[in-house]
Amino acid sequence: MTPFRANMMDKVLNWIASHDDEPPYLLIDREVLQEKASIIGKGIKNSKVFYAVKANPDIDVLRFINSLNMGFEIASEGELAILEELKVPPHRIITSNPIKTFKFLKYAVQYGIDYFAFDSHAEVDKMAKYAPGKKVYVRLTVPNEGSEWPLSKKFGVELEEAVELLLYAKKKGLEPVGITFHVGSQCSNIYNWYTAIDKAKQVKEMAQKEGIEIKMLNIGGGYPIEYIKKVPDVETIESKIDAILQKNFPDTEIFIEPGRAVVGDAGIFVSKIIGKAKRGSENWLYIDVGVFNGLMESIGGIKYKYIVGSRGEESEWTIAGPSCDSFDVIDKGVVLPEPDVGSLILILSAGAYTISYASEFNGFSIPKTFLI
Ligand SMILES: *Cc1c(COP(=O)(O)O)cnc(C)c1O
Repeated sequence: MTPFRANMMDKVLNWIASHDDEPPYLLIDREVLQEKASIIGKGIKNSKVFYAVKANPDIDVLRFINSLNMGFEIASEGELAILEELKVPPHRIITSNPIKTFKFLKYAVQYGIDYFAFDSHAEVDKMAKYAPGKKVYVRLTVPNEGSEWPLSKKFGVELEEAVELLLYAKKKGLEPVGITFHVGSQCSNIYNWYTAIDKAKQVKEMAQKEGIEIKMLNIGGGYPIEYIKKVPDVETIESKIDAILQKNFPDTEIFIEPGRAVVGDAGIFVSKIIGKAKRGSENWLYIDVGVFNGLMESIGGIKYKYIVGSRGEESEWTIAGPSCDSFDVIDKGVVLPEPDVGSLILILSAGAYTISYASEFNGFSIPKTFLI
């Protein structure tokens, strides 16, 4: 166990022992959050960090991140409303959603946000009307190989079209300033950033020939966290990326939009074991948080690490959530000592993309979040 995890575990166990809130709930450790925030971006010269709010939009989490002076990346009116409540100044907010709702776009402009992503002519037309004169950056498609949560299919354009879109934006009275991409979430493959930066460099050079100066490169999110597999750490990734940026984008302002890497490791889900059964040769464990009320990413392949209090004999378990839907299976083949029904199970690195996905399907309420 890494030192931060050992400290965090002590804190979490103390918190559980001294509170009588009913599970399931998510605990977020301030110190881990602060540590992650202090590391990310440090290795990249001339960079600004914008936390991707969708990873965890809990208001106390956002308030804390705001107190650390980080920026925010948002995509919707709901996310902006929370930031407005926290009085986050507009210059610390960007929006990288290439296809924005009308409602959000108008609100963002009224709030004073300056930076907007796009990847289509239709979006340029929309922004020319509702966000005239704003700074815009074009989203490229880049390889997402080796990312556990790929994001490449839905958005982005190839090189020539990117240049053409930047020109079109200029013609329509917007201010084309930059390029963005996303290598895919939970990306352990450093080559994805190399390829992406190389593509961005080609766009920069082509745009320059057409009279457009690229002043900003937004390298997106994607930094991985440690679930069950070792991943390259942020310092390593950033030192490698920075070397390439120094060569290809020496005078360009760099934006980074991490979500998972900021909050993921800071979160531990506290859940209760509500049942056990033997089905054929399989051992099933039923817990009170599942696919619908917090662990949605498990169906996309994210595998969590679990801790139970028992010291019994180890065997393999299929872990399922509390709902009556057969889709609600979180994991299979998890080796655990046999726990008692009614005891707790801790789910590690659960701070990102958990509560933000949760629904009240089947009447199970959305777990609370506590900042500890
Ligand atoms: C979701 C998202 C992020 C954050 O990605 P992580 O993998 O959580 O770091 C950043 N930028 C954009 C545009 C996103 O959609």
